[in-house]
Amino acid sequence: MEKYIIGNLKMNLLTQAERNHYLSSFSSELKKSKFPNSKIVLCPPCLHMEKFVGILQGAGVEIGAQNIFPEERGSFTGEISPLMVKNFGGKYTIVGHSERRRYFDETNAVANEKIKLALGSGLRPIYCIGETEDERRRDLTFDVIAGQLEEGLAGIANTQADKLVIAYEPIWAVGTDAVPTSDEVMEVKILIRKILSELYSPEMAERIPILYGGSVKSRTALEVCVEPGMDGVLVGRESLIPIEFLKIANIIDKAQ
Ligand code: PEP
Repeated sequence: MEKYIIGNLKMNLLTQAERNHYLSSFSSELKKSKFPNSKIVLCPPCLHMEKFVGILQGAGVEIGAQNIFPEERGSFTGEISPLMVKNFGGKYTIVGHSERRRYFDETNAVANEKIKLALGSGLRPIYCIGETEDERRRDLTFDVIAGQLEEGLAGIANTQADKLVIAYEPIWAVGTDAVPTSDEVMEVKILIRKILSELYSPEMAERIPILYGGSVKSRTALEVCVEPGMDGVLVGRESLIPIEFLKIANIIDKAQ
């Protein structure tokens, strides 16, 4: 399967100058390598989306949103519709990120609505799931993951499932520099694949990319992605440094 290297820029790039600097350094780093086996995706703040699409899409980078509202249009002050993202050139949206679960009460049920609207609008949802440190300590990892998948993907038909991307992000590894072992990642990946094959046909379950996210760096990429056989990574902090992000992409792309 093609690999997915996805950057979540979060609430950064605060000025036009900062954004332009990021885009020009990303573009010049991008010219130094080819990624024949991977899709490179960046999810900037929505305010920057149009510019990112304009500058990077032609160079083979796809763009996504960090969040959407689960309605097409209307009186939802401050929100971004999935159709807006699509019409402005976005192809993906992150859903259920642990920061949205923590700060904005994004439950599995809310994530489910967003996934449905994203798919209905022609966007590919990147559905983030993962356990807290406490849940892992109490041996609840598998139950939490199963619940997040079953509730978050409820009612998504087999015919739509090939548009899904699943990102396993253990919450204790997001933004912390702690990473799970390769075996720990692989165990969860096997569980996710098993649940997907219960929800969908086995062939379809095999086609859904399962990524790892949480403190991915060039020095951890082999351990958290390549060794456990993940289909790519969702990268936070390191995606703000184009040379580092593309170094991660190179390691994963060339490790086929
Ligand atoms: C994330 O926020 O999805 C993430 C993985 O962040 P970081 O890489 O900084 O841990």
